[in-house]
Amino acid sequence: MPLDEYRRKRDFTGTPEPDGVAAVAAPQDGARRFCVQKHLASHLHFDLRLEHHGVLLSWAVPKGPSLNPADRRLAMPTEDHPLAYADFEGVIPVGYGAGIMLLWDRGAWVPEVPDVDAALEKGDLKFRLEGTRLHGSFALVRTRGFGRSSRPGWLLLKHKDASASATDIVASHPDSVRTPGAGFAEMLASAFPESWRTEPPAKSGEAGRAYARLIAEVDRRRATSAGRG
Ligand code: MN
Repeated sequence: MPLDEYRRKRDFTGTPEPDGVAAVAAPQDGARRFCVQKHLASHLHFDLRLEHHGVLLSWAVPKGPSLNPADRRLAMPTEDHPLAYADFEGVIPVGYGAGIMLLWDRGAWVPEVPDVDAALEKGDLKFRLEGTRLHGSFALVRTRGFGRSSRPGWLLLKHKDASASATDIVASHPDSVRTPGAGFAEMLASAFPESWRTEPPAKSGEAGRAYARLIAEVDRRRATSAGRG
């Protein structure tokens, strides 16, 4: 069944993520949704999702999308997500994907191939994005895997077109596209799991340092508002 893997990985009593049971109305214009979430979990990454056959096909992109045709961004396939995920952002306190997720871009995608299933099977999907931040023609191309790993990876590429740019779009737009001005700190402050003081989703490395900084920021905001009250 579609979404079996998505549901098996999650306990919906513990996560605010959609369970995918409620039907989601199709856009009136018949457009296919896409979204990109910025997700600080055990590591920072971005999740690219494209609507196809009633689910969101998903890839985890460690460095995030790029508008620069010179960049080749690794994109690892992950389980299909429910359509309701296209608007999701929030704090996942425990379990699979625990961390902070903000909606980084959303809009419509348009296949630039006659048959999406055949393109996925072949490992070469060309498509156009019409988002708030991402525009123009891209491709997802399957590779034979990296290093000693035989796990097939994909590369997310930007084609040369009027939307191509050397601007680092991920750096220039750190915040939510759904909640303007909200970054990880704002999202965490509004739904802080106290358990993260002793058990943050990552304790070491870059992500570990990010959680330490963000938790200190939550405390600083609380002290400021307590002082004001
Ligand atoms: Mn993710």
